[in-house]
Amino acid sequence: MSLESKYIWLNGKLVETEKATIHFLNTSLHYGVGAFEGIRCYDTPKGPAIFRLTEHSQRLINSAKVMGFNTLPYSLQEIDRATLDVVAANGFKECYIRPLLYLSAPNLGLNLDTATPQLGIAAWEWGSYLGPEALEKGIRANISSFTRLHPNVNMTKAKITGNYANSMLAKTESVRLGFDEAIMLDPQGYVGECTGENIFVVRDGKIYTPPTTTILEGITRDTLITIATEMGFEIIEQPISRDQLYIADEVFVCGSAAECVPLWEIDHRVIGSGQGGPITRKIQQAYQAAIHGQNDAYAQWLHYVS
Ligand code: PMP
Repeated sequence: MSLESKYIWLNGKLVETEKATIHFLNTSLHYGVGAFEGIRCYDTPKGPAIFRLTEHSQRLINSAKVMGFNTLPYSLQEIDRATLDVVAANGFKECYIRPLLYLSAPNLGLNLDTATPQLGIAAWEWGSYLGPEALEKGIRANISSFTRLHPNVNMTKAKITGNYANSMLAKTESVRLGFDEAIMLDPQGYVGECTGENIFVVRDGKIYTPPTTTILEGITRDTLITIATEMGFEIIEQPISRDQLYIADEVFVCGSAAECVPLWEIDHRVIGSGQGGPITRKIQQAYQAAIHGQNDAYAQWLHYVS
């Protein structure tokens, strides 16, 4: 993966990437209190378009609100505009976009009230996070030995940088054990989410997914629920136990970075046919059509760069 770009948008200006630097004594760097987003821009028949941009910008603002950041320096519309500008300036047709609200405080203290929020937005060309083979063949996952965060420990509706220490522990452990991804249980012991994806289970033609109580409210999760409901599937949000994964007909995970990926094995148990089932494939194809502007029914989700 290369993180190359010509420009990064930093606090109101497009800055050459090498010059987009931040002081070492930065509050977010030291304490993990940045709020961030992961967004994708796709090439469509009408040119590059950012998928569900405003929903991502709104979640960024919500993350800052959940954490209790001081007043943000930019409005929702300004964040949308800056995101479009950084993609246009780099001339990307397809890219991943990373807005980050970070904090700087003169004394590096722990009181949020002494810190000022600042915003940077980077973009780079980046294929599907789990790789093209994952989309096609699916991945192997295990149940992590790490528990997903309790909302009273680190709030999970906020996409806060510090929450990703938990994700990195789980992801690294799973990869070292030979799996591709970790499935994390919530503090009650029910299936929560993966380290950077939400999870769905298919059984007897019905689709199940954990309620949003302890997980990140994924925008792809919401997209897939909309798409699948419009296809006529019943979506049931209810607690899911670990063994319900093992006996599922299909399991898939989703996120802006990973897109929609089947799981073919969990904890050494083959899921369904072991090839990604027909419902996963249907939803995956419909998602690909929506993000690439090939289905007018979802045109409202595309924010054109020019
Ligand atoms: N859960 C976690 C922990 C994540 O980091 C992500 C990626 N943002 C998701 C779920 C999926 O969210 P989205 O579909 O909005 O990318």
